[in-house]
Amino acid sequence: MSVTDTQRRILDAVDAGFDAQLATTRDFVAIPSTRGAEGPCQDMIGDLLRQRGYEVDDWHINLDDLKDLRGYGPIEHDFSKARTVVGTYRPTNGSGRSLILQGHCDVVPAGPIDMWETPPFDPVVKNGRLYGRGACDMKSGTIGALYALDAIKAAGLRPTGRIHFQSVIEEESTGVGALSTLQRGYRADACFIPEPTGAKMVRSQVGVIWFRLRVRGYPVHVATAGSGSNAITAAYHLIAALEKLEEEWNRRAASDPHFKTLAHPINFNPGIIKGGDWASSVPAWCDVDCRIAVLPGWSIADHQAEILACVAAASRDHRFLSNNPPQVEWSGFLSEGYELTNSAEPEAAFGKAYDAVYGGATPDLVFTALTDTRFYGLNYDIPSLCFGASGEAMHGFNEYVDLDSLRQSTKATALFIAEWCGVEPAQ
Ligand SMILES: [Zn+2]
Repeated sequence: MSVTDTQRRILDAVDAGFDAQLATTRDFVAIPSTRGAEGPCQDMIGDLLRQRGYEVDDWHINLDDLKDLRGYGPIEHDFSKARTVVGTYRPTNGSGRSLILQGHCDVVPAGPIDMWETPPFDPVVKNGRLYGRGACDMKSGTIGALYALDAIKAAGLRPTGRIHFQSVIEEESTGVGALSTLQRGYRADACFIPEPTGAKMVRSQVGVIWFRLRVRGYPVHVATAGSGSNAITAAYHLIAALEKLEEEWNRRAASDPHFKTLAHPINFNPGIIKGGDWASSVPAWCDVDCRIAVLPGWSIADHQAEILACVAAASRDHRFLSNNPPQVEWSGFLSEGYELTNSAEPEAAFGKAYDAVYGGATPDLVFTALTDTRFYGLNYDIPSLCFGASGEAMHGFNEYVDLDSLRQSTKATALFIAEWCGVEPAQ
C-alpha cells in the first residue's frame, strides 16, 4: 500500500466530510422513491448539483426516443413524470480523461412494513449501519460519489477531465433511465457505478428477462369444480415447467468462464401472483410476473423463444390449457448480460485507488444480478466499472449499508476520479 501526498489530502477530506455525507444520505433514503415516485429524489439531486455549481440537465424521458435502442425493456405504467438528471463538470483545461458517475434513485417496494424493525423510509443509524430501503441499493453509493467529488474540491484540487454525474430511474425494472442518458448524448471514456458490491469489482453480470404469464381458467361454482378449470393451479403447472427450464439453463452455465464457479447462477422467480375473484368460484384468471436470468453472450431473442416454447409445451399436456394456451407478455427487463471488457486502463486507475484504501489487488465479483453498466459497455463500448460498499438485505427487510465500508468505498471513488480524470490545484 502506498499513498501519495495528493491521495492523503483527498482521503482526509472524505473523512472531514463524512458526517455531512451521512446526513445527506439519510435525507435521500427517507424519500420513498419506488417505481413511478422518483420525482422528489430527482429534485433533491438537481438541487445538490446546482448548489455545487454543476451544469444541470433535467429532462422528461420520451420512450419513443428509446424503443429502438439495444437493451430497451417495455414500460407499462404512466411514464409522463419520468425524469433523468445529469450534472456536468467541465474542466478549465480539458486534458484529462472523461468520466460518467451514475447512480439509480429508484428502490424496490418495502414489502410488509411489520417485518421491518424500523420503518423503511425513516432511516436509522445503529451499530455502525444505516438502515432503510435503498440505504444499500444504492442511495448511499450515489451520495458517496457526490461527496467524493466534494472531497477533491475540499483538498484544494479540481479534476482535469469532464465529468457527468447521472441520477437515473428504472434500474430495478428496465434500465431505460440509464439508456436515456446515452440517447441524450452523454458519453465518456469510462463509466463508474457505485452499486453495493461488497468492495469487489463486478467482472461479469447476468442479464434478466421479465415476463408475465396470463393464464385463463373456466369458472364454475366450486360445488362442481371438476367441470371447470382452475387458473391458479394451472399457473402452478406452468411454474413447475419453468423451473425445469431454469435447471437446463444452469447446466449450460457450467461452460461460462466466470459463472461456472457458481452453483446456481440462473435464478427463476415467480415474483407476483394475482388471480381469482371469489373463494367459492373456480378462478378464471391468474397472472404471474416472472424473472429469469441469462448469461453474457446469450441472445435475448433466442431465450425469449425458449420461454415461449417451454410454456407452449407445458400447456399441451394440460387438459384446459391445451385448448386455451396462456399469453406471455414481456413486462420489463429484456437485458443482456455483460462481462467487463476493454477496461485495462480504467481498471489500472482504479487499482491504484483500491490499493491506497484497502491494500492489495481489487477482488472480482461474478454477479447474479444486473447493473446499468451493460448499456455503456454493450451499446457504446464504454468500459463500465461497478464497485461499492457492503451491506445486507437489498430487496429484503432491515436493509442496511455498513458505514465503515461506505467511508472506504467513498475514498476509493474519490481517488479513482482523481487518478482517471487527473487533478490540478484549484487556483
Ligand atoms: Zn442497485
